[in-house]
Amino acid sequence: MSLPIFLIGARGCGKTTVGEALSQALGYAFTDTDHHLQLSTQRSVTEIVEAEGWEGFRARETESLKAVTAPRTVIATGGGMILAEENCRFMQEQGQVIWLSASPEVLAERLESEPEAAQRPTLTGRPIADEMSDVLRERAHLYQAAAHHQVNAMQAPECVVEEILLSLSLARA
Ligand code: ADP
Ligand code: MG
Repeated sequence: MSLPIFLIGARGCGKTTVGEALSQALGYAFTDTDHHLQLSTQRSVTEIVEAEGWEGFRARETESLKAVTAPRTVIATGGGMILAEENCRFMQEQGQVIWLSASPEVLAERLESEPEAAQRPTLTGRPIADEMSDVLRERAHLYQAAAHHQVNAMQAPECVVEEILLSLSLARA
């Protein structure tokens, strides 16, 4: 099987970290929709939203998803990718969708320990763990519905990779 593998989940769940390790284990390419969006527009997420609004951003995100989708590729998606039903349908039809699931506490702890995050205020000024709880409450059912498989992302990255390989019945390259 050489279908693309889409990793979905909240910011900090490990899409980039696990995605890179998974792509190496399989001998697949690795790509990131946020990265593609920034390269193709030469703008940051904030700049795109300021210029085109969230609707414009979401439309470009869908374009990026379609542009990076290819066989033998692990694709890390933006945390909000599942907000558009079109994106969910596309991922389900084109490949295998994996939800990297983690508790709000673990997500907050990881984001807080990132150097840039230390200086970055949260959107509301509230503790980041509270914000992650809200985000997961809003989105958990969407991640769940979009995913073919839910994987526990609160284990070491190599264990997360193993769980994904097992759930997809894929062997290391
Ligand atoms: P995402 O791409 O989903 O936003 P990242 O892969 O960038 O998440 O990971 C966010 C932070 O959490 C990074 O500092 C990364 O090193 C750490 N991290 C990711 N996965 C794990 C894991 N399974 N165990 C411990 N730390 C992790
Ligand atoms: Mg990432």
